[in-house]
Amino acid sequence: MLDFSSLLLAAALSGTCLSVTMFAIWLTTPRARFVLTVACGILVLVAHVVLFWRYTKDASPWLCQIVLALLGLGFLVLCLSAVQYLGIRNYRRAIVPALAAMAVCALVTYLGFDGAGFLITYSTVTALLAAIGTMFWMKGDHDRRILLVVSLLSGICGLSFALCGAVLLVNEQWTLGAAPDNWAERLNSVVSVACMTVLGALTLSLHHLQAQIELRAETMTDPLTGLMNRRALTTLYGDRGFGPFMAIAMFDLDHFKRTNDVFGHAVGDQVLCRFASVIRKYGKTGVEAFRLGGEEFALVLSRMTPEKAHDLASRIGVAFGTEVVSTPRGPLRSTVSGGMGFGTAEGRPLEEVLADADAALYAAKRDGRNRVLAQAKSDRPDTGPALRSA
Ligand code: GH3
Ligand code: MG
Ligand code: MG
Repeated sequence: MLDFSSLLLAAALSGTCLSVTMFAIWLTTPRARFVLTVACGILVLVAHVVLFWRYTKDASPWLCQIVLALLGLGFLVLCLSAVQYLGIRNYRRAIVPALAAMAVCALVTYLGFDGAGFLITYSTVTALLAAIGTMFWMKGDHDRRILLVVSLLSGICGLSFALCGAVLLVNEQWTLGAAPDNWAERLNSVVSVACMTVLGALTLSLHHLQAQIELRAETMTDPLTGLMNRRALTTLYGDRGFGPFMAIAMFDLDHFKRTNDVFGHAVGDQVLCRFASVIRKYGKTGVEAFRLGGEEFALVLSRMTPEKAHDLASRIGVAFGTEVVSTPRGPLRSTVSGGMGFGTAEGRPLEEVLADADAALYAAKRDGRNRVLAQAKSDRPDTGPALRSA
């Protein structure tokens, strides 16, 4: 036979250790705010467990109020941590009903119906755990496998609270005058210790996964313009064939060295950012932009005909030509040259399409700059007649 007090002590101890570990992790990575929220939620639950243990010895009505409020609050904070992790903005959908249920619970407990108070709190906790389980079941992407386990554990934990409430309901124990003590309560404390420990470990795994993803995103992003970099281009398209409705537009700013020499590097950087913002403005589904290095950029255009792709690249070139960057030496206008490379029905590798785009870009430079050419030579029958635009 399990001793109820020892179970409560075990729950409080494991919860405290978990919470301390999470606080320590949050201190080293303050960006992982959901880890801090989980730590706070668990700490509130530890306080609940300790006071609940006290309540089993001395069933004062005020202590009952506090115990029930802490249980509801602890799971509400855990639910908010899930919302925070998944990036859901609407916090109020969890907070408002949970606080309303807690207020009703406080009222009925104050009126002497402590059994009903426990029942309301167990229902609230079951609902919060069901919400966590559902959110993690439905959302999640790279971290789907971990989230499914979290979802399952939340479900099990929620079920054990539902059983506690069901026992009170079946026995019609609206007034207790003491802590509820039945088989469901004991089962619930075992399930809670197990689930909380595993959930804590999984929170740490989620934190590591998130850190890994952020790091990967950082290595793929150009810090100046925020566009993807060359590494991202090869990672995303290095192993893929470019089909007939795919193209690459390569851009190189005109006389950029002169811009730097005359206006300074800071202004040069501004011009680079301005070009990136023009690309973003024209970016739509099927357009991905990369800064290859220096003042060279590439667009991967998918799901469009060569003519449409060339037209879009040309419009970007024209739009950039109308942009004005204000400098201490007066307004600065810059231009850009571009070249296109196209995929084929057989599928061409990235290097081949890039080489075509590069050759077309140099032809555009030779032709006098400030234009986007679809091809370097006129001997490419598959892309139709040479397309040119200023
Ligand atoms: P062209 O019209 O033939 O392309 O001439 P260009 O002057 O643009 O070509 P060039 O390749 O000679 O000059 C590129 C310049 O880009 C040289 C380099 O100093 C500058 N550059 C490369 N990266 C950066 C950067 O991050 N910021 C700034 N401000 N300048 C950069
Ligand atoms: Mg260049
Ligand atoms: Mg240049």
